[in-house]
Amino acid sequence: MATRGGGPGPGAGLRRRRGGMEAAGTGTGTGTGTGTAPGGCASAREAAEAPGSPALPSRRAEVEEEREAAGPCRGAEAGGGRGGRRPPRVTVDSSKAKTSLEALKISLRQLRWREFPFGRRLPCDIYWHGVSFHDNDIFSGQVNKFPGMTEMVRKITLSRAVRTMQDLFPVEYNFYPRSWILPEEFPLFVDEVQMMKESDPSWKPTFIVKPDGGCQGDGIYLVKDPSDVRLTGSLQNRPAVVQEYICKPLLVDKLKFDIRLYVLLKSLEPLEIYVAKDGLSRFCTEPYQEPTVKNLHQVFMHLTNYSLNIHSGNFIHSDNANTGSKRTFSSILCRLSSRGADVKKVWSDIISLVIKTIIALTPELKVYYQSDIPAGKPGPTCFQILGFDILLMKNLKPMLLEVNANPSMRIEHEQELSPGVFENVPSPVDEEVKVAVIRDTLRLVDPQKKKRKNTQSQTSEQVSETKDELLDAGPADGLEYDTSKTTEAGLPSLCLKQVFPKYAKQFNYLRLVDKVAALFIRFLGVKGTTKLGPTGFRTFIRNCKLSNSNFSMASVDILYIDITRRWNSMGIDHRESGNAILYLKILEAFLVQHILLQAPLVANCAPVSFLHLMWVVGLNVNVLRMAERLL
Ligand code: ADP
Repeated sequence: MATRGGGPGPGAGLRRRRGGMEAAGTGTGTGTGTGTAPGGCASAREAAEAPGSPALPSRRAEVEEEREAAGPCRGAEAGGGRGGRRPPRVTVDSSKAKTSLEALKISLRQLRWREFPFGRRLPCDIYWHGVSFHDNDIFSGQVNKFPGMTEMVRKITLSRAVRTMQDLFPVEYNFYPRSWILPEEFPLFVDEVQMMKESDPSWKPTFIVKPDGGCQGDGIYLVKDPSDVRLTGSLQNRPAVVQEYICKPLLVDKLKFDIRLYVLLKSLEPLEIYVAKDGLSRFCTEPYQEPTVKNLHQVFMHLTNYSLNIHSGNFIHSDNANTGSKRTFSSILCRLSSRGADVKKVWSDIISLVIKTIIALTPELKVYYQSDIPAGKPGPTCFQILGFDILLMKNLKPMLLEVNANPSMRIEHEQELSPGVFENVPSPVDEEVKVAVIRDTLRLVDPQKKKRKNTQSQTSEQVSETKDELLDAGPADGLEYDTSKTTEAGLPSLCLKQVFPKYAKQFNYLRLVDKVAALFIRFLGVKGTTKLGPTGFRTFIRNCKLSNSNFSMASVDILYIDITRRWNSMGIDHRESGNAILYLKILEAFLVQHILLQAPLVANCAPVSFLHLMWVVGLNVNVLRMAERLL
C-alpha cells in the first residue's frame, strides 16, 4: 500500500505535537536520513527525546542481577535443559539508547539477550548509547561509540581528513567532491574557481554551501558563483564547507536519490570494518533538472534529505521496498541490473570508498582513543555503526557526501493527519534494514562468541589476496540476504559483511598517516592528551636522533613555537585535536629530511611542501618503513 503526502497509515496512536522547538525548523525530528548528522544538532535533538532519567533498578532486579553475576544460569530460566550449563546471557544496558531503543529492543528479543532498560548496578557486557561515547562512566565491557567520532565526521573535520589523503593519494581519493573550508579558505576558493574557469571556459560549475555541524539539510544552499556565498552575518559564527555540486546524479524515475549505507567499525586497532549488504535510498520529490539560476532554490529537486522531502505533497510512503520515496538500496541495484548495469562494480567501488574514508579518519580517531582510554587503564572497548551518505553519479561512480556518527535507527515515521496532529506509524522499510544492522552488529561483538572464538580456529574471515574478490563483497548475484545458511538460534545469516581486514592487501599502502599517528601518540608524553607539547616534541627529536650540531634543542623549541603559531593563525578551535595531523606532517617532514635525505633542517619548512616532495619523489613507502622501524 502506498499513501501520498501525509495520508493515514497503518494503526498507531495519535499524538499532538508539542510546541516550541520541535515544531520549528525544517525537520520533523523523525528523520531516517541525513537527519542524524554529526555534531551538536543531532545530539541536541536526540537528547531532547531521551526517555527520561533512568529509574533505579528494583530490588527484584537487583536480586536477579546478583544471582546472575554469581555464576552461570541453570535449568529452565537458562534454557539449558536438565541440569545443562549455559553461559550467562549477554547483558545490555539500553538506558541511553534514545531513538534507537525500539530497533534495539527487537534485536535483543531476537537474540534472547538480557536488556537493562534502566541501567544496572553491576557492569553490563554492552552499553548502547544513542548519541556519544561520553554518556556515562564505563570501565569495562563494550560501548557502541568511539570517543572523538562525532568530532571527526563533522563536515569540516571530515573534509580536512580526506584532503590530507587527497594530497598524498589524489587518484585514490577522487570520490569526495572538491571542497573548501569557509571562511578561512574563501580567497583560495575564489582563486581556484577563477583559474579553473580560465583553463576550461566551458566549465559552468554549481557549488553547495553546507554549515559545519548542520544536519537535515539545515542552512544548505546552492550558488553558481563564489560571489553569491553569504559571507556576512551568521557565517562568521558558523563556519561551513563549500563543495562542488554534483550536477549529473543517477536518476531513478527521473528523481535524484542518495544512499544511506550502514557501516560497522568493529575495531580500530586492529582495523575491522563491516558493510551492511543493504541500505536505504532516499528520494527527492520533484523531477530533477540540472541546476540553473531559476531552480537553484528548489530543495525538493536538489536535496534528498528525508526530513525535507517529507513535507512535499509528492512524498510517497510505501510498505513496498521497491517503490515510494524511501526504498531499499538492493531494490535500486536490482533495477540497475535489469537495465544491464555492472552492479558488482558499483558495489565494489562503494566498498573501496568506505574503506578509504575510514582509513582517512583512523589516525586522529586513534589520538582521541588513547586520550580517553589510555593504554593500561581500565576502560571499555568500542565499536560503532556509521551512516555513509553516498550519491551515485550518472556514470555510476559513487561519491561520498558525508558520514554520520549517529545514523537514525528509528523504525517509525510521523504522519500529519490534520494540521498539528501527528501519528507515529511503523515503517517496514526502515525496520527491515535497521533491525538487521543492530542485531548483526550485536552478534559480531557478542562477548560469548569472542570466548568461543578463542577456543576455535576461525577459517571464514581470512585476508584475501586477489582484487577480484572485492567484487563479491556486496549483495553479489542475488542482491538479497543469503538466508540459506542456518546460523545460531535460527537467525538469518549476517547482513554485515567483513571488508577489512578481508581486503586489507589492496588498501594497506594508504595507511601511511596511520603509522605516523602511532609515532605521534608515542611521543605525546602525557597520558590522556591529544596535543603534543614542547616536551613531547623534544623527546621525539631526541629519540629519533634528529638533533645534531646543525639543529640544536633551541632550534627545536623555536620550531615548536613556529608550528603552534601557524596552527593558531588558521583559526582552529584549540579544544579540537585537529592539530594532530599538522604535527604528523611535521614529523613526516623530519623523517624525510633528516633521516632519508640527510639534509640540514630548514627552520621555516612548510609541511605541505614536504608532503608534496614525498609524493613527487615517491618516498612515502620509505617513510612508512622508517616509521615502522622507529616504532
Ligand atoms: P546534511 O547533513 O545537512 O543532510 P549533506 O551533506 O548530507 O548535509 O547534504 C544534504 C543533501 O544535499 C544530500 O543528501 C544531497 O542530496 C545533497 N548534496 C550534498 N552535497 C552534494 C554535492 N556535493 N553534490 C550534489 N548534491 C549534494
